[in-house]
Amino acid sequence: MNGDRRWWCWWLVAAALVIGVAGFVFGMTGELLVYALVGLGAVAAVVTGVRIHRPARTSAWTLFAVAAGTGTTACAVWAVAPDALVTPSLTLNDAVFLCSYPPLAAGLALLAQRSGTSRWAGITETGVVLCTGTVLAWVLLYDPYVMDNPVPLSNPAVVAYPFLDALVTGMAIRLIVVQATLSRPHLIVLGAIAMMATSDVRYFLQVARAETVEGSMTLSVGAFIGAYVLIGAAALHPGTAPAEPRPEATVSTWRMLTLHVVLVLLGPLATVYAVRRDTELHQFDLIVPIVLTAAVSVLLVVRMALATRLAENQAATLGRSLAEQAALQDSMRHQALHDSLTGLPHRSLLEEQLALVSAAGESRGALMLLDLDGFKDVNDRLGHTIGDQLLVTVADRLRRLLGPGETLARPGGDEFAMLLPAAGAAEVKARADAVLATLRRPVEVTGHTLHVTGSIGVRRLEARAGADELLSDADLALYAAKAAGKDRYELFDPRLRREQAERIRMVERLRAALDADEFTVHYQPIVALRSGVSIGFEALVRWTPPEQAPVGPDQFIPAAEDSGLIVGLGEWVLRRACAEAAPWHRRYGTTIAVNVSPRQLAEPSFAAVVRQALADSGLPPNALTIEITEGVLVRSGAQTELTLAHLSELRADGVRVAIDDFGTGYSSLAYLRDLPIDILKIDKSFMPDDPTDAQQAALVRAVVDLARSLGLTTVAEGVETAHHAELLRTLGCDRGQGWLFGRPGPAPAAAIRLAAETTVGV
Ligand code: C2E
Ligand code: MG
Ligand code: MG
Repeated sequence: MNGDRRWWCWWLVAAALVIGVAGFVFGMTGELLVYALVGLGAVAAVVTGVRIHRPARTSAWTLFAVAAGTGTTACAVWAVAPDALVTPSLTLNDAVFLCSYPPLAAGLALLAQRSGTSRWAGITETGVVLCTGTVLAWVLLYDPYVMDNPVPLSNPAVVAYPFLDALVTGMAIRLIVVQATLSRPHLIVLGAIAMMATSDVRYFLQVARAETVEGSMTLSVGAFIGAYVLIGAAALHPGTAPAEPRPEATVSTWRMLTLHVVLVLLGPLATVYAVRRDTELHQFDLIVPIVLTAAVSVLLVVRMALATRLAENQAATLGRSLAEQAALQDSMRHQALHDSLTGLPHRSLLEEQLALVSAAGESRGALMLLDLDGFKDVNDRLGHTIGDQLLVTVADRLRRLLGPGETLARPGGDEFAMLLPAAGAAEVKARADAVLATLRRPVEVTGHTLHVTGSIGVRRLEARAGADELLSDADLALYAAKAAGKDRYELFDPRLRREQAERIRMVERLRAALDADEFTVHYQPIVALRSGVSIGFEALVRWTPPEQAPVGPDQFIPAAEDSGLIVGLGEWVLRRACAEAAPWHRRYGTTIAVNVSPRQLAEPSFAAVVRQALADSGLPPNALTIEITEGVLVRSGAQTELTLAHLSELRADGVRVAIDDFGTGYSSLAYLRDLPIDILKIDKSFMPDDPTDAQQAALVRAVVDLARSLGLTTVAEGVETAHHAELLRTLGCDRGQGWLFGRPGPAPAAAIRLAAETTVGV
């Protein structure tokens, strides 16, 4: 394709040479045959150009090829049968020559790419150009050389040439007017039309003046064919390939103006010329030019009216689109600032309002940040559609609680914010209670009755506190409300900021401690209450920062849970405990219990991790107990399913599952039924401080009986005194764990204990 980009030049030079030389070398027949051959070449050039460049206006070029083909045929007919007649006054070759003009004119019409105006405007312009061309052809050629010619024409067909040239030239001028930017190929085509018109006029004059010189007649044909050679060159020119559209390109006003002025003047000028030239005026001499000039004027008026209408339409369209644009901007601003689901303002609008309130130096009022408890569970269990409906209902209920001048927003997810700019301290509390109460009411959503609660963080407004500060403080209070058990509100207190900073610092320290291997595992014996023999140990993690007092798990496990660090730490404890307990199990048959946090159970790989730890340590699955808390079921639905799957899978392997700290959580009985467990660990809070406390004893009995009826092994935690042990034995509790039997200690201590028990033979 890229080949030689100057083919068009080569073609032009070669064809011009052939035409030029043929005119001198051959006789008339030979000359015409050569021209016919060149014409054939021109057809081929156009076809090739179209195939190579694939121009946008293929139809125009096809018509040019048809025109060139027709002209070529005319040449050949003239050479082969110069005297063939169609009618006594029309030779066959003239007839065919004349046939080549209409496709040429049509091709020119199609070549013009009109941009920006209506089709009718194009048609009026074409009319103007054609009328003016006809006036000129009439006044300059037909009238003087045909009408006023006393001698009849030897070849009457030539009369048609000036008018056909007026048609073709008119179309060429229209191309100049209409085409915003004229490319090289356009210019070459225009050159071709100029060449053809000149040669035709010359031919017409020769015939009209009866100066029929054989050679020069055929040279006119050569020039005619030469015009097609140029069109072939234009087709081959690389500029014919469709260019990138340039929408900004419009016809220059100057070009239009000049052309219209020239067109308007040409008709009258030509008429004046005719009047002055003719000594005796014929009837038609003036009628035709005047009628055509009048037509031009009418067409120009129509053109102007069209332009005005177009401008009006454009102005109206512009006005409409400006209005639409403004409306769109409004709605986009609304969309950007409001939530599409509930229609409530987004965080950004809330921030704007907060900024306004604090700029006004407001020191009354409060910001309430509300988060739905368990919303994620609803979403996971029942799907987002139900979740969305729940949010809409909550938004509606909250909206009803709004007073004048107050704002309700949805900063994101299941969070809502209420800005109460005028509420006093007591009122804020009352409003928070009202919100909590309205949320507790069950929500009916397409066949589901949902029970949700909310947690609220309250930040009192304060002069000089920025929007960011108010929001993050409210967030801290919200976090505190969640941590304190949800379905409640907490007021912000600067203490919360300190606590948060401590939490952040704790997480950083934990991360470093994990890297620095500062953790150890201690083991606390679990004994069979009947015999007093250690049947196993519970692994309890210890953190001993270098040169500092050991930190208890109660202080760092929550931070490890929050940050997710518990996943890695828990795996480490599990592997360590399995590895250290494996030899004890081999020698004494003891088991090992490892605490697992809900966060670990929510990991898809949990069961695989446990299996790997067992395989690596050689500890059989039935020597391992996993201790979980009720917290595993407080998580969301999807995670609960994963947790239950892990537990069932591990139990199928033989691993035991114990529920830890039983009795401290809520709805414990339901959990007992739902969880796949083997062992129930009664929380140490059940151990009576006073050995005579019959009520407490009855409570322990109830738990032991319940466990037995469910076929669970019972382990009592916090057995500190002989009284505890005695009570548990009489109640039928199976196992005990507590300071009475032994405090948690490092692995060697556990090993020594086991060895001692064996020697003593307890
Ligand atoms: P837990 O699983 O209920 O562990 C028993 C806790 O009670 C241990 O506290 C133990 O030292 C303490 N204890 C044992 N006997 C007595 C007694 O007679 N009286 C009293 N008052 N307390 C006794 P510790 O070691 O401070 O662990 C606290 C909690 O930290 C554990 O409670 C457990 O929930 C968690 N934890 C410990 N290690 C890990 C671990 O590796 N992973 C996870 N996820 N949690 C762990
Ligand atoms: Mg435990
Ligand atoms: Mg416990």
